[in-house]
Amino acid sequence: MMNEVKSLDTEIKGLTDALRGQRILHLSATANGGGVAEILRSEVPMLQDLGIKADWQVIEPPAGFFEVTKKIHNALQGEHTGLSPTEWRYYEAVSKDMAKKVAPAQWDAIIVHDPQPAAIPYFRVDASDTKWIWRCHLDSSDPHGGVANRMAKYLLPYAGGIFSLESFRLPGFSPEHLAIIPPAIDADSKKNRPMDKDEAQEILRAYPLDLSRPFVVQVSRFDQWKDPLGVLEAWRLAKQKVPELQLALVGDTADDDPQAPMIVKELRGAAKGDDGLLILVDEADDRTVKAFQTLAVAAVQKSLREGFGLSVTEALWAGTPVIASNVGGIPLQIEEGRNGYLVSTIPKAADRMAELAADPAKAKRMGTAGRKIVEEKFLMPRLVRDDLTLVAKVLGAD
Ligand code: UDP
Repeated sequence: MMNEVKSLDTEIKGLTDALRGQRILHLSATANGGGVAEILRSEVPMLQDLGIKADWQVIEPPAGFFEVTKKIHNALQGEHTGLSPTEWRYYEAVSKDMAKKVAPAQWDAIIVHDPQPAAIPYFRVDASDTKWIWRCHLDSSDPHGGVANRMAKYLLPYAGGIFSLESFRLPGFSPEHLAIIPPAIDADSKKNRPMDKDEAQEILRAYPLDLSRPFVVQVSRFDQWKDPLGVLEAWRLAKQKVPELQLALVGDTADDDPQAPMIVKELRGAAKGDDGLLILVDEADDRTVKAFQTLAVAAVQKSLREGFGLSVTEALWAGTPVIASNVGGIPLQIEEGRNGYLVSTIPKAADRMAELAADPAKAKRMGTAGRKIVEEKFLMPRLVRDDLTLVAKVLGAD
């Protein structure tokens, strides 16, 4: 382990030297909510600490733009609904406007995250030879053909691309440099630094949860792809076997996701009268999220599609096993029966919830194994190394 850490440091140092003087911009849709913001909040300062000229900008489109881009997001994740010609025209018009506000000449490489700002280089106005890299965080393993085709047109100017998994590569997008890089968490961030059980209990005492009874938690944006209704159903089934089991659905509503209020409404409607259920919307700060992840007997991630699932990584890092769907980037993190369970149906999820709720010692053993896999594969220095390796290739600085 020591040697690995050392060699990672050495690799990062080599890359930092190779990239000295180069300016790298990250461009994304939102500073709040969701995994991309979570990553950039740590990665960009880390790059700056290494002496790299890195920065992060967030697009500021007019109201209505994210309605359209959420449709692109959904279609790339496999929803069968495309966009109307009017919606595409709007996407282009706003992208054109946003392109005027980015000053590419100030940067040697610009890493653009996800579909919202993706068409900016297509509509760029200056002729600088800035290199563009598109970083897709979505589970695009089975995209809507028409939308993928249309996006491929906008993605033509990119010199580089990043997906979390090989199977996410989008048809028609083959930049000169392509890398497969799973995301990572920051072990030193407010959210992920250690928390003992006393501190976690102290924090959770503020909520109507009986801390003498077990609970499972799903920490996720309120998004159809995270299937909160499916979690609710699975928990109800699990309760038939372990009646004292509670469920916390802890979620936020990202700035770029206009569908969240509807999902929350649907969930609250379905959840009326359930004993032992806690739904928190936009209430949990980083330490509260960590407290839930620390004290849960298991975390749940019942996503229908999932690019990676930082929530899974965080729970494992908190020493808690994860019961999660066998989709997208989740299986990269779960070793069946060792640090969690991969499930493909609601009854299976329920069985695993009941199993771990009834056997906290087993849950604890699995949680310990979970920390190890994160330490080995999913911490920020590895992501920094992988991202810089691609940037160096794209800039010809390798
Ligand atoms: N998150 C949070 N508060 C919440 C819900 C989620 O801070 O109420 C964070 C969560 O801890 C994780 C990120 O949002 O860091 C979600 O990332 P993930 O990759 O799981 O999903 P995404 O939202 O990017 O699809």
